[in-house]
Amino acid sequence: MRLVGVLFVAMIFGLFLPVPSWAQGIIRDAEIEAAARDWSDPIFTAAGLNAQDVNIHLINDRSMNAFVTRGQNMFLHTGIILNAKKLNELKGVIAHETGHMADGHLARSDDAMKKAMRPMILTMGLGILAAVAGAPDAGAAIMSKAQEVGMVTFFAHSRVQEAAADQAAAKYMEATGQSGTGLLTFFERFRFQEIISGAKRYPYFLNHPLSSERINALQARVETSPYNAVEDSPEDLHKLKMVQAKIIGFLEPPQTTFNLYPETDDSQPARYARAIANHQAATTKIALEQIAELLNEEPDNPYFNELFGQILFESGRAEQALPYHRRAVELRPESALLRLNLAQALIASDTPENIEIAVEHLKKVLVREVDNSFAWYELSVAYERQGKVAQAKLATAEQSYAMGDYFRAQSFAQRALMELPQGTTEWRRANDITLVIAADPRIRRQMTQRRRR
Ligand SMILES: [Zn+2]
Repeated sequence: MRLVGVLFVAMIFGLFLPVPSWAQGIIRDAEIEAAARDWSDPIFTAAGLNAQDVNIHLINDRSMNAFVTRGQNMFLHTGIILNAKKLNELKGVIAHETGHMADGHLARSDDAMKKAMRPMILTMGLGILAAVAGAPDAGAAIMSKAQEVGMVTFFAHSRVQEAAADQAAAKYMEATGQSGTGLLTFFERFRFQEIISGAKRYPYFLNHPLSSERINALQARVETSPYNAVEDSPEDLHKLKMVQAKIIGFLEPPQTTFNLYPETDDSQPARYARAIANHQAATTKIALEQIAELLNEEPDNPYFNELFGQILFESGRAEQALPYHRRAVELRPESALLRLNLAQALIASDTPENIEIAVEHLKKVLVREVDNSFAWYELSVAYERQGKVAQAKLATAEQSYAMGDYFRAQSFAQRALMELPQGTTEWRRANDITLVIAADPRIRRQMTQRRRR
């Protein structure tokens, strides 16, 4: 079921490229997003930004990179999360990017960027992306979109801007009672990048050229902070390790995960990674045993509940998955993604009562994330099952609109318009979609191109 959202992308772009072992794209995961927000929000606030207005996007890409775009969007590659030895390093990078954002260092237009990214912003858990590895067309479509973006050239900053962002980062870290040394040690670890030319450099250091002068200036500033010696709290460091374990478990081939986290490692992150890798390797029984052990240790961990539910769901046991997804939602009712999992399992277990409850959950998801195309897709399925054909068409129009497929959005909105009772909220929404699409010259151009093909 989850793959449908992804395969849909393949259909839109009609791309058939070789299978990537590591499908790229935007990833959505309740646990990682919550952690990223915990780490970033105080820094955003210290920068005078309204934390709620800043979007954090995670990109599935091993290379180290982080960048910001207009409209207060921060992008973090999984590679930069995996390369952080301490949370303080990652926070330093986030603070530096926040410096660019707060000071408006966004020289280049990000229109092209937005256009390229939009179809990639699918609502899917890490599990879906990993499954994509077995679905060549879908994975390839996502991957090629990411390459098309050519992020490196978009976000190069000047030396002056780099120095200013470093100073700003040190200021925000100090204002939040945290050490600024993480950014410094991160730079020092990658100082060798200074002498590496062009293409061989990590994208991050192409965008943010390092120099001794720059490192010295940052060091001088960081040393004046009274919080210079503050270390990551054990809880913070544990959370980083769990996030890293999850990224590796879901996105690396199982054997790589088993090598990185051998049986001799009894830590919770290692057991988490191995459980996920077993799920990926389809050794479901072992995966469930391992997650059950973690759940036994922390019954109130929403993400252990989520994972247990996900493994059951993906092995065709939607009904059994329900209590775990329900528990996850109880523990974090504000999470749209956890609620979406529950709705999906309810729809798959397919009783009229469950479908009705699923619709209510999906409406709540969409209040929080109106552009969540996967939620719109699930809603269209639920309406379809309920025999509400016109509503299902409207939901498909919304789904297509959220994915940037305006051609399909308009076609479904027009069909919904014909069938919905005139003047109702839903009728007006269908009408709005057709009007918005008709009024936007960029969309009209896309439609013309589509018709020609
Ligand atoms: Zn920078």
